[in-house]
Amino acid sequence: MNTQLYASPIFGPIHSRRLGISLGINLLPADGKCCSFDCLYCECGLNSERVAHSKMPTADEVSATLRQHLAKLALEGIQPDVLTFAGNGEPTLHPQFPEIVNRVIEIRNEMAPQAKVSVLTNATQTVRPEIFNALTHVDNNIVKLDTVDPIYINKVDRPVSHSYDVNEIIRAMKQFGRRCIIQTMFMQGTYNGEDLDNTTDRYVLPWLDTVQQIQPREVMIYTIDRNTPVATLQKATHQQLDRIAAMVEARGVKCQTSY
Ligand code: SF4
Repeated sequence: MNTQLYASPIFGPIHSRRLGISLGINLLPADGKCCSFDCLYCECGLNSERVAHSKMPTADEVSATLRQHLAKLALEGIQPDVLTFAGNGEPTLHPQFPEIVNRVIEIRNEMAPQAKVSVLTNATQTVRPEIFNALTHVDNNIVKLDTVDPIYINKVDRPVSHSYDVNEIIRAMKQFGRRCIIQTMFMQGTYNGEDLDNTTDRYVLPWLDTVQQIQPREVMIYTIDRNTPVATLQKATHQQLDRIAAMVEARGVKCQTSY
């Protein structure tokens, strides 16, 4: 299926199911993907199919281009709800990520004070103190936790580093507590003949226990929306997502669902 890459360093605005009118900040190269996961459902494609040849934008380029886009949107009478770090991979891999976060917050305060600053992150870098600290400064620190099952993670999220340990990531999430929002992809389907349904109690119950221990500000559950590189994946149903959302809410945690 056709997957897509985003312009860099700024793209959109796009209408996000979860965030509203979102101006995207893509810290990764425009011509490929750069991620510490290699998710089977990634709308940018698989890492091996999307090798980047150009460089990441510098902090100066990000700042200048963001200013240009915000000035143009203001002239058009468009106010973004959110400035979202997302795009062609994992934003926290950018070597200047903490500095760029600070600069984006400054520009937001000056040019678009109504907009929230969000980061969509796979959380792999939260074990690095400078990244953890930078993520505590944004309005919406949206960390991925698709499951707590290491075998499922290796099948679906496919961490690039062999030293990835989901328990280390969960420890960082517990330190965030209400300073994070958990994002979880639920889906069905198969890959290489293996069942990838993570909507059943086998996966949901241990994940729920962990969510309750983390005590995030909110949980966002969603399913496949755009094209995925693997054609045998399937959306979770409305009923499956509604059931999981009710279980999250019953644990006292706010839950937003995108179908
Ligand atoms: S973490 Fe996000 S960008 Fe990275 S492979 Fe997964 S879906 Fe794609």
